[in-house]
Amino acid sequence: MTLPYAEPFKTKMVEPIHFSTRPEREKWISEAGYNLFNLRSQDVFIDLLTDSGTGAMSNAQWSEMMMGDESYAGASSYYKLKSAINEITGFEYFLPTHQGRAAENVLFSVLVKKGDIIPGNSHFDTTKGHIEYRKATAVDCTCDIASDTRAVVPFKGNVDLEKLEKVLNDNPVENIPFIILTLTNNTAGGQPVSMENIRKTADLANRYGTRLILDSARFAENAYFIKTREEGYADKSIREIVREVFSYADGMTMSSKKDAIVNMGGFIALKDESIYKEATTFNIIFEGFITYGGMTGRDMNALAQGLYDGTDFHYLESRIRQVGYLGSKLREYGIPIQEPVGGHAVFVNALEFYPHINREEFPAQLLAVELYLEAGIRGIEIGAIMADRDPVTRKNRFPSLELVRLAIPRRVYSDNHMDYVAAALRNVYEKRDNIKRGIKIVEEAPILRHFTAILDRV
Ligand SMILES: *Cc1c(COP(=O)(O)O)cnc(C)c1O
Repeated sequence: MTLPYAEPFKTKMVEPIHFSTRPEREKWISEAGYNLFNLRSQDVFIDLLTDSGTGAMSNAQWSEMMMGDESYAGASSYYKLKSAINEITGFEYFLPTHQGRAAENVLFSVLVKKGDIIPGNSHFDTTKGHIEYRKATAVDCTCDIASDTRAVVPFKGNVDLEKLEKVLNDNPVENIPFIILTLTNNTAGGQPVSMENIRKTADLANRYGTRLILDSARFAENAYFIKTREEGYADKSIREIVREVFSYADGMTMSSKKDAIVNMGGFIALKDESIYKEATTFNIIFEGFITYGGMTGRDMNALAQGLYDGTDFHYLESRIRQVGYLGSKLREYGIPIQEPVGGHAVFVNALEFYPHINREEFPAQLLAVELYLEAGIRGIEIGAIMADRDPVTRKNRFPSLELVRLAIPRRVYSDNHMDYVAAALRNVYEKRDNIKRGIKIVEEAPILRHFTAILDRV
């Protein structure tokens, strides 16, 4: 008989998680103002809020923690990380930062000025924040099919090359310091970008005399999709694919909390020495001296090892397979999800789940609350609450999609946990017609309101 799938690791240390009763959860969510960010983690059974910084480190990473060199300057941990980054990405120059947005802050301090235009594929919110903060504009050139949750295409995270070329044609090159590609495309549902799309984007950047920067938080998951979906890559190793991807770029920003499987950390890596030199000043001001930049020696060691762990094919297969497994369970139960399932999360379509709930009553937030009440599972609303009000009219903005994201931490939960999540969602789905009204906002901040808003049932 064909052997079933089994993970390429076993458990050495365990962390208890806590069952609770529905009356307890009723009390906790009410005290949290119906905002899952306000819950205490001990009151959550399965935490799918984010895959960022929530992964489990390996024994090799933990042993590296003991070997950290905490010297202020010239630490061996810095050189270990430099050599890992050079080996994995091919980039010569690198600066450590405390997380991904800090890498954006430092690099954009060099490259972005007022009035600039930075085209890309669905800029991540902090990336967009760092662009707009400098009074520049992020122009989203994602392919149109990305917003169709039913369309099954292999590389739904791609940039639309025609849209991109139009931006390059319509604007003077001195106002386009770089094009940014996000691998995988987080905002479009963890959807991958093909090697062909990366190569053609780099060709356009060259032709128009600008640069290509990769927002690389999930570069390894993206490489896995290239290997398994793109013609000509099946026999290439993940590391070979990763090297090819980065060979097309001028530089990268990295949130190490994703594919490098550490709890905190980030970096910038670059081809060009002159940009590196300019960036060092900003790194020293914002992050720390260039050989630690906001990271401890032990964290740099764990990150160096995490880059090797995270680009291992068998690990990546277990990771992407588990996300797909949850997706297949939900599909089997008839629950509307975004297709195809991406690399780090399953997205449930709340507009189809609760079609009878008015959008002014935030169906995705309602679904996230009901899932928590059902089984202590914490997901996150990606819909109108997160979209904030229009800065000018102050009216609620309603994005085309209203989703609940179930992000899967790396190497943390078993397939039994995935079965539990799927069964809980199925129960919520079966009771969907009993839910007549949604959620209202009681109190909110002017921007990024989803983190702190106080909500209530209508
Ligand atoms: C998480 C993330 C960032 C920001 O990184 P932090 O480590 O959270 O600061 C930037 N881009 C993408 C695509 C991300 O997923």
